[in-house]
Amino acid sequence: GKAVFKRDKPHLNVGTIGHVDHGKTTLTSAITKVLAAQKGAKFRKYEDIDNAPEEKARGITINAFHLEYETAKRHYAHIDCPGHADYIKNMITGAAQMEGAILVVAATDGAMPQTREHLLLAKQVGIPLQNVVVFLNKIDEVPDKETRELVEMEIRELLNEFKYPGDTIKVIPGSALSALEGKNPDIGEAAVKQLLSVLDDDFVIPDRNSNEEPMFAAEHVYSIKGRGTVITGKLERGTLKRGDKIEIVGCDRENLTSVISGLESFHKTVEQAFPGDQLGVLLRGLGPKDVRRGCCLLPAGHKHKPTDKVKAQLYVLKSSEGGGKLPIANYFNEHLFSLTWDTGALVKIIGKDFIMPGESGEVELMLNNKMFIEPQQRFTIRQGSTTIGTGVFTDVLP
Ligand code: GDP
Ligand code: MG
Repeated sequence: GKAVFKRDKPHLNVGTIGHVDHGKTTLTSAITKVLAAQKGAKFRKYEDIDNAPEEKARGITINAFHLEYETAKRHYAHIDCPGHADYIKNMITGAAQMEGAILVVAATDGAMPQTREHLLLAKQVGIPLQNVVVFLNKIDEVPDKETRELVEMEIRELLNEFKYPGDTIKVIPGSALSALEGKNPDIGEAAVKQLLSVLDDDFVIPDRNSNEEPMFAAEHVYSIKGRGTVITGKLERGTLKRGDKIEIVGCDRENLTSVISGLESFHKTVEQAFPGDQLGVLLRGLGPKDVRRGCCLLPAGHKHKPTDKVKAQLYVLKSSEGGGKLPIANYFNEHLFSLTWDTGALVKIIGKDFIMPGESGEVELMLNNKMFIEPQQRFTIRQGSTTIGTGVFTDVLP
């Protein structure tokens, strides 16, 4: 049989974010190398991480590498994406996955547009204020102390701008490449260890509301011949166990019932799943078309009504934040992403005709499909590969 997933340490979902080529993948690989030496990880080569297999769901191609490692204190799931667009898609569609972020900034470049955009997205997907650490990378190429300090100051300002506590967040100077190559231990291995101790000691385990009614948003759906359908994703809240009666809602589904016939995490059987767990949930008797990415799993007897009309606060990104140059206009159709779902929506702006880049406004959204929406849930609006707006749902409309 399969090894049983041991819950002997607190678990946290983290990931590397930051501008392309600043060293996210190198750092991810270096973390596994440093921890492999203490039996806390399987060493993952740079090439293996950067060649994550493509996953396709509803026409959206996502590239992401999930790995796990553990320190003496905690167990981590870590995500690294190869390209900027993959980060955007992942943070938006699989968003809830990251509960802590390692912001990688190359000291050779400083903060760049994608640094800003990832940080804004981190904020929008609800990464807690304490759960950001900066790895100031490529220090081997910036021996000059003044330059490092300038870059650090700039990053702290940027963090403050996005309402993260920029004055207290740890900025760790180091060299991911040195750590990976086993060179310059003071800026290599030592810096990675320092980073890990920040994850261990400073990052908070979010209150995952294990006493609440469970909710799980399907990120991917696979059908297994003769066994049923497996949906993967992160348990947002509550607990789940084998035998639980559940219902699938959202993406125009209501009252679709099933029973959980198996639960797995990283290919190990899970007796009881808790909030934040990365899971594969096996559902008895459901066919491949019954569930799709974006559907939510709720307990049988829940009170949720999927909706296609909702009020929200919307912020339109400036081009310096990675957004567009044009405003969002009243009565235009836009493409909305929230949890793991996405759909088209008509945007009705309350009290004005446009929301200019850099401005926010109150909107009513008329969605093409009935979706799982709750107040305080976040969403984004994308045009092609650009995030033009982010927002928060405030009231479900009748
Ligand atoms: P990503 O796009 O953020 O994932 O960046 P990569 O990890 O792919 O790194 C981009 C490039 O920077 C690669 O050529 C790395 O070898 C190089 N690199 C990463 N970390 C360091 C470092 O600490 N020092 C130096 N000099 N180069 C680095
Ligand atoms: Mg990379």
